[in-house]
Amino acid sequence: EIDQLQMHYPLGSIWGSKQTLKAVDGISLHIRKGETLGLVGESGCGKSTVGQLTARLLEPTGGRLFYKGEDLQKLRSGRDNQLRKQIQYVFQDPYTSMNPKHIIAALLEEPLRIHRIGTRPERKAKVRDMLKQIGLNESYEFRYIHELSGGQRQRIGIARALMLQPEFLILDEPVSALDVSVQSQILNLLKDLQQQFSLTYLFISHDLNVVHYMSDRVAVMYLGKIVELADVNDLYTSPLHPYTRALVSAIPAKHRGQRQERIRLQGEIPSASATPSGCAFHTRCPFAVERCRRETPTLRLIRPGRRVSCHLHE
Ligand code: SF4
Ligand code: MG
Repeated sequence: EIDQLQMHYPLGSIWGSKQTLKAVDGISLHIRKGETLGLVGESGCGKSTVGQLTARLLEPTGGRLFYKGEDLQKLRSGRDNQLRKQIQYVFQDPYTSMNPKHIIAALLEEPLRIHRIGTRPERKAKVRDMLKQIGLNESYEFRYIHELSGGQRQRIGIARALMLQPEFLILDEPVSALDVSVQSQILNLLKDLQQQFSLTYLFISHDLNVVHYMSDRVAVMYLGKIVELADVNDLYTSPLHPYTRALVSAIPAKHRGQRQERIRLQGEIPSASATPSGCAFHTRCPFAVERCRRETPTLRLIRPGRRVSCHLHE
């Protein structure tokens, strides 16, 4: 449970006024056991920061995180250590997050060593077992990460995240660095592993097709805030927020409802250090009215399972 999570970075002042980068600006989300919640938005909208905060790789400037009811900021160190094992993060490119001087076996063994799990032979057996789970044979144990293809590298990234038998994975653009043909192999592997180990996923991506394929529910982010939250099929067949409508109308007809007009967004996503007043989307919204410049809409429940942040849907 993510409650009013916030990540603001002070930037110093320009012309005497203090600047703040609002990477994440009051986000609340409930992720259900066993589901995949997709988090989608353009690059720079803050979705990776949400992932890193959820994995506690970053300390938020506001808000709280709960795991099965436990407040993660109030844990004793033993319990904290246990829960850190339960929640793991998979990076876009494992190459940047793993030591290139270590062989694969050492990279996979490392989390077990850090948490003092098992004897040396037990750990070796676990590494071998995990390689099999992710579709690589024993010969990979002695290779280096730079000897592997992008897809194999991401398999190792996933394997490493699974070594501690977590319950919850945060997948940050896990296939964005891969060729399309390899993407589906990794996505299917993630689906298989989810089934096999009863995993819960927070799946972060800018790619609406990939998010559609993977997710049960989807949250759409714009400039540090969630603007819409819905079951995956509702979101793609009847997007309500103008931003979601624009994103969905830009993908091939396969996943979206018929008769949806193409909505073209004007301009680029504004900087998170200069968020527009009122509804932050008003500078690009084709439906914006005067009120949108003044009043910030809130993410409201408009029907069961459906939340939208837009004055048009009150
Ligand atoms: Fe567009 Fe106004 Fe809705 Fe924002 S509140 S999305 S500007 S119509
Ligand atoms: Mg990112």
